[in-house]
Amino acid sequence: MSEKLGMEMADKMRKSFSIKSSVKLLRQSKSQNKTQRDFQNKIDSLQTKPQDMLFNRVWGCGKQCPFCKAPCEAGGEVHAKHFLSVHRPEGLGRYRFDNSKKLVTDICTSLVHSDISFKCRDTKDQWHKYKEYSQIYPDWQIDPDRSIEASAYWKYVMAEFNEQFAEEYDAKPADIPPYWKNMKTQAEESLK
Ligand SMILES: [Zn+2]
Ligand SMILES: [Zn+2]
Repeated sequence: MSEKLGMEMADKMRKSFSIKSSVKLLRQSKSQNKTQRDFQNKIDSLQTKPQDMLFNRVWGCGKQCPFCKAPCEAGGEVHAKHFLSVHRPEGLGRYRFDNSKKLVTDICTSLVHSDISFKCRDTKDQWHKYKEYSQIYPDWQIDPDRSIEASAYWKYVMAEFNEQFAEEYDAKPADIPPYWKNMKTQAEESLK
């Protein structure tokens, strides 16, 4: 893709986006209105809850991917670069298209394979090629690979809570690939 799909970060909270803001999203949704209750009910009906996933997965070095915010998998041992086998849709890390403000469904390994650029506080709000991410994030290894897709779990979560993420992140809902909406069973299976 040669078009410049601009992405920006709502960067006020970028540094602090972490488990805290995710949990806040879930806790807030317990309250008052019906949509929020429905949201919580959906969360409750997941066999493994997103907040548990977030907590359970934070082990090892605790660093999060600068784009999708998934935690490094390299574990607690000393490692030269932070690494993840499967990244998450970047919208979950607050990335949105610059023009449409829609949350991004692509994952980091695809984006570093593309000609797409990003900008955020770390690039001083200047466009920077994903391909050259290591100039900005030298301690991360994100290998370009178009064949890897997000996990069934995160596809399902993003599809199911698209509107809520958009609201929480002050963005527009993502254009979700239609089949992501039918992945509940696979998402649950993947957690067993
Ligand atoms: Zn990532
Ligand atoms: Zn690490």
